[in-house]
Amino acid sequence: MQYIFNFAPIKLSFRVYKIENVGALAHILSGRRNVVLVGHVNPDGDSIGSLMGMMHYLAGLGKSVVPVVPNRYPEFLNFLDPDGVVLCNSEQPEAVAGAVSGADLIICMDFNSLKRIDSLGDVIASASAPKVLIDHHPQPDTIFDLVYSYPHLSSTCELAYWTIKGLLPICGGNMPLESAIALYTGMMTDTNNFANSVLPSTFMMAGELMDLGVDKEWVQKMVFGGYSEDRMRLMGHMLSSNMKMYPQYGAAVMVLTKDTKEKFNFKDGDSEGFVNLALNISSVKVSAFFTEGDEFVRVSLRSKDDFSVNRLARGYFNGGGHERAAGGRLFIPVAEVEEYFVKSLAEFIEKEK
Ligand code: 5GP
Ligand code: MN
Repeated sequence: MQYIFNFAPIKLSFRVYKIENVGALAHILSGRRNVVLVGHVNPDGDSIGSLMGMMHYLAGLGKSVVPVVPNRYPEFLNFLDPDGVVLCNSEQPEAVAGAVSGADLIICMDFNSLKRIDSLGDVIASASAPKVLIDHHPQPDTIFDLVYSYPHLSSTCELAYWTIKGLLPICGGNMPLESAIALYTGMMTDTNNFANSVLPSTFMMAGELMDLGVDKEWVQKMVFGGYSEDRMRLMGHMLSSNMKMYPQYGAAVMVLTKDTKEKFNFKDGDSEGFVNLALNISSVKVSAFFTEGDEFVRVSLRSKDDFSVNRLARGYFNGGGHERAAGGRLFIPVAEVEEYFVKSLAEFIEKEK
């Protein structure tokens, strides 16, 4: 039997937000000691932030907690995992399989479908431990035993914050500073630095975390001041020499090829956030960023106003996501990607009229 809790967060009083039926999670946690936390492919700030935020809280309750992700997270997030406890399935598949088979509880965070964790999906699907989902993407898979799905919340880190606050009076423990920093970071990156999907609850969370000791300027510096020279030069190159504008559709497109990656000594995560840049142009309503990989072209889409990149990604790019931030994959040569995008966009806009 699957239990799904996805109601709006209830405002109980001026500063208190509550996640519906957090008692079910407290109950499932009470008899279990070995917890595996699972994050999504190409982990971002919200993914690593929610894993580490939850890990430090659960460790304080005496649980043994292992965070696992399909592949490596970008270097700038090292500060959230200074001891390197996050296991990457692409690098240490045996260690990941061992942790999952020894787990008596699995908590998946910041993704809604096992398709979002590549081959780690099979490992999780065949595990015997109960599976909990804590996530803010619409339409969660049915494979989870207990689901906390809040698509309108800014980030999984915000959802994890209100969830932990709900657990505190039932399970005890406290919110360590490491948790607070991790949750603040993921909320900040997923809202594109307090720009998108920010609710009053998001600011409350930020304020409360600062009260707990989070130094927001330090976090800011770690996240946005951690560029390598290569990443900065790549950004300049993409903006000045690569970005194409399609004013008739209010669109901007960038395509990062393997050749360009090589030229700028590309490391995973180096182009993180570049898709947001074009939205700073007043006439741009939709921004697309394509990255050539070994097996497919990775698609990243962002929009403003009521343009649904979630529907665009579902319809044309083998993906999905949020209304204003979505992604997917294309299995065509990188040289054909821009033309495919423009054709798809024209058709999509016509259909949505
Ligand atoms: P990003 O552009 O940062 O890679 O992804 C933005 C959002 O799009 C993610 O938070 C996720 O919700 C969604 N997304 C990205 N890639 C995929 C994909 O391949 N499939 C689906 N369903 N969603 C994706
Ligand atoms: Mn997220």
